[in-house]
Amino acid sequence: MSVIKSVIDKVKQMDPDQAEFHQAVSEVMETLEPTTQRHPEFVKNSIYERIVEPERAMSFRVPWVDDQNQVHVNRGFRVQFNNAIGPFKGGIRFHPSVNLSIIKFLGFEQIFKNSLTTLAMGGAKGGSDFDPKGKSDGEIMRFCQAFMRELFRHIGAETDVPAGDIGVGGREIGYLYGYYKKIRNEHTGVLTGKGLEYGGSLVRPEATGYGTVYFAAEMLATRGLDFKNKIVAVSGSGNVAQFAIEKVNQMGGRVISTCDSSATVIDEKGIDDDKCCYLMELKNVHRGRVSEYTHKYQADCFEGQNVWDVIREQGIKVDIALPCATQNEIDADNAQALVQNGCVCVAEGANMPSSPEAVKIFQDNHILYGPGKAANAGGVATSGLEMSQNSSKLSWTREEVDNRLLIIMQGIHKSCLDAAEAYGKKGDYVAGANIAGFVKVAKAMLAYGIV
Ligand code: NDP
Repeated sequence: MSVIKSVIDKVKQMDPDQAEFHQAVSEVMETLEPTTQRHPEFVKNSIYERIVEPERAMSFRVPWVDDQNQVHVNRGFRVQFNNAIGPFKGGIRFHPSVNLSIIKFLGFEQIFKNSLTTLAMGGAKGGSDFDPKGKSDGEIMRFCQAFMRELFRHIGAETDVPAGDIGVGGREIGYLYGYYKKIRNEHTGVLTGKGLEYGGSLVRPEATGYGTVYFAAEMLATRGLDFKNKIVAVSGSGNVAQFAIEKVNQMGGRVISTCDSSATVIDEKGIDDDKCCYLMELKNVHRGRVSEYTHKYQADCFEGQNVWDVIREQGIKVDIALPCATQNEIDADNAQALVQNGCVCVAEGANMPSSPEAVKIFQDNHILYGPGKAANAGGVATSGLEMSQNSSKLSWTREEVDNRLLIIMQGIHKSCLDAAEAYGKKGDYVAGANIAGFVKVAKAMLAYGIV
């Protein structure tokens, strides 16, 4: 049996209930087969077996008090997956679906994503099954403080540097950082995504969305295409989606969709700059539902359906798809519909938004398909730039950070193509991203001996 197959089998056997983690491990491991022949030293030293096991995984109790003085208990997680090339680094997610399987899948993916950025960052992820929807500011603050009351002992600027993810934006990072600062009595770059006034970086909020569009532009350029006048479908209406829409508009494309977990909005005329500003205010300030968009603008609203279901059922033509909401939002039927409706490019702003069957359909049909760990790496790359600014106590200009982001995304695109070609998988961004990310981490692990 190949080492790859035995590693996948063992992961499934050891934690049979961790479906999302199995999916991520299978997706990465299956593309690493060529590295086992090229690097027998990786096989000999059991690098494949070691890389699927987190350095450590913490689960903890998070008790907090709501506005009615009711006590609630949620479960918190931090999975420190791999710190071979730098301190652990990865976001925190607050969403009712969060469990150990989801945090392990995200932490595992983060190892390779962070390696691809060329910055010195290991892979980690954390979160809680806490649902921020409908909570008051006071409740969010008390929850963040309760979460940090345990997390603080596991993190540090040189140890583990968390950031935001679903349900954790600027407001939550402020509460988390403020509490860390209070109990540790130190002002240090222990979290990224901070406000500009207290150590944040310009362009960090925009970076994941912008980076996804930069990556898509690089893929399109390989076929002599660009965003001009293209019809673009975006899912989600959170941090990544908002800035993906903004950047597509700057590049001359027309975004026709947005969604949240309750509804999808289709605006065939395009979510232009003014409408995008309204969407940002609706979601970030009023914390409203995306369906309210149709109270202000003429557009169609589909309650209870995601963007990709609506596109399939309504037969909507799309040139470029940017899934920016959550994992497994595009299934095989949705992927088939995108292909039939003329889609040429899929760049993943979200983590693992396409099911394995959907990915196969994109690849079989020669769609330009950029997996999340490459396409959405701009967020963590800019977090890395925030860490550099924090440690040198300097703040770079918007142009400087945005330029570095663009160069990093172009570099990641090139690394994917180069690694794919070098290992006999020309043009395969999935194999290229996984191999390029893996080889660097594997070599570092090898250098340390058995630790
Ligand atoms: P946000 O919480 O800001 O936004 C998430 C958006 O997705 C919201 O609009 C949310 O709707 C929607 N959503 C969540 N679950 C579903 C669902 N089941 N069906 C439909 N819509 C859903 O998160 P981010 O924008 O930060 O993250 C989005 C994705 O990007 C995630 O996969 C994340 O891991 C990934 N990512 C984020 C990075 C970052 O820098 N923030 C970096 C790299 C990847 P609602 O408002 O109803 O909750």
